[in-house]
Amino acid sequence: MSTQTLIESNEFFIGGEWVAPKGSGRIEVHSASTEELIGSVPDGTPEDIDAAVAAARSAMDDPQGWRSWSAEDRAAAMERLADAFDARSGEIARRISMQNGMPIAIAQQLEAVFPSLLLRYYAGLARATPLREERDGILGGKILVEKTPVGVVGAIVPWNFPQSLAAFKLAPLLAAGCTVVMKPSPETVLDSLELAEAIREAGIPDGVINIVPGGREVGAHLVEHPGVDKVAFTGSTAAGRSIAARCGELLRPVTLELGGKSAAIVLDDADFATAAENLFSATLLNNGQTCFLGTRVLAPRSRYDEVLQVFGGLADALQVGDALDPATQIGPMASARQRERVEGYIAKGKAEGARVVAGGNPSDQERGWFVQPTIFADVENSQTIAQEEIFGPVLSVIPYDSDEEALAIANDSEFGLGGSVWTTDQERGEAFARRVQTGSIGINHYLPDPAAPFGGVKASGLGRELGPEGLQAYLSTQSIYKTQGSAGAAP
Ligand code: NAD
Repeated sequence: MSTQTLIESNEFFIGGEWVAPKGSGRIEVHSASTEELIGSVPDGTPEDIDAAVAAARSAMDDPQGWRSWSAEDRAAAMERLADAFDARSGEIARRISMQNGMPIAIAQQLEAVFPSLLLRYYAGLARATPLREERDGILGGKILVEKTPVGVVGAIVPWNFPQSLAAFKLAPLLAAGCTVVMKPSPETVLDSLELAEAIREAGIPDGVINIVPGGREVGAHLVEHPGVDKVAFTGSTAAGRSIAARCGELLRPVTLELGGKSAAIVLDDADFATAAENLFSATLLNNGQTCFLGTRVLAPRSRYDEVLQVFGGLADALQVGDALDPATQIGPMASARQRERVEGYIAKGKAEGARVVAGGNPSDQERGWFVQPTIFADVENSQTIAQEEIFGPVLSVIPYDSDEEALAIANDSEFGLGGSVWTTDQERGEAFARRVQTGSIGINHYLPDPAAPFGGVKASGLGRELGPEGLQAYLSTQSIYKTQGSAGAAP
């Protein structure tokens, strides 16, 4: 599908206006499906980040500014932003789909919907969450415990779900009264132009949200900027480690949502007949470019052949094609580099002796960064394809002999982000789920719910987003010991 006119911008959204960049570099974006140039924006520089942080800082420090608004006024502004986002959501989904290869049907179900859902959810929490509590002190007297916004946030997001993952940060930080400099990934910058317009339309005060796209150096500059009070990062574990190290030195609060290699654990009483769609979204959603997917499928040896048939059949039947085609279930990888990486893992899987049950060959699509959905059988959990995050449509099916062995395999991973248990016995599923070392896990499906805290253990991250817990991450606590006694005079 051709992409009509180029989407071009020459400015950044800083301080509520479109401002000229300090540098002259540009980020060019190509369609993942056709490889055609679809648009470009200025490439952010450290000086642009400086300007954006200054705008966020002055919005944060304004005594009459966003932080001083009543919860009701902030919530109403967030709901206006949700409405403005909704009005643009069709175009936002289209741009994301072109840029990162997300099938348009999935972009319309998730990227077009989740951000405004989160803005409305956190607007509700802003209204409902008390920020001041008076307590009786143990030593006598009264104490005020107050929650205040943590300050200017440096938010760095990846390209796989660029708007939802931005909203994981934006919605709670706005509810808390913070301001932000957001750095989108260079792969997905065109959708952020629409978000900026929605922010203007909604009347969010100038400087509360600032957006500067750029690469990792610009991200690193944002992380260590003296004007930033907290860092919220979603991306790879490698980048997360270096950001955590820098934040450690600076003693700067940081939330890290990182990589995963989750397990989809098929128990011996699983029923696949009713679960096909859920299996797909728990293991292959967004072309496998999703952090929480259960890419290690653990199958009981008693039903191993059947599980291979289910997954082999699923992969073979998937409609692979242009991401903008509404019938497409698997689109291309987001970039040529990503395709190369995934193909490298497929080659490695073969070299290490895993058996290909579906896919495994170069794609026959004429253009675009496509990879065949690939299912490997007879994988040992110690093999590279079972231990490293591939971030493509590649699953490893690993046999096990007992529930205890399945649990040991599930937990034998550097990561701990998502996962799923497949069983007809809900209680058995929950009991099993509790023993998996992971931040979240689903029974017979997997999709993060806005009301539930989401995040990882081990190398999958630090802290939680979503739920009421996600709001607390943007609040600081101050205790005020009230004057003791009625006179309140100093001795
Ligand atoms: P990436 O780490 O290369 O980049 C993510 C973002 O961080 C980009 O905006 C990039 O420019 C920036 N960045 C990279 N290095 C940086 C540094 N040292 N300092 C500051 N900024 C830096 O990751 P990616 O390839 O864009 O995204 C895919 C990864 O993200 C996968 O590992 C995936 O699992 C992870 N991810 C995690 C979650 C989650 O919620 N846990 C969600 C989606 C994606």
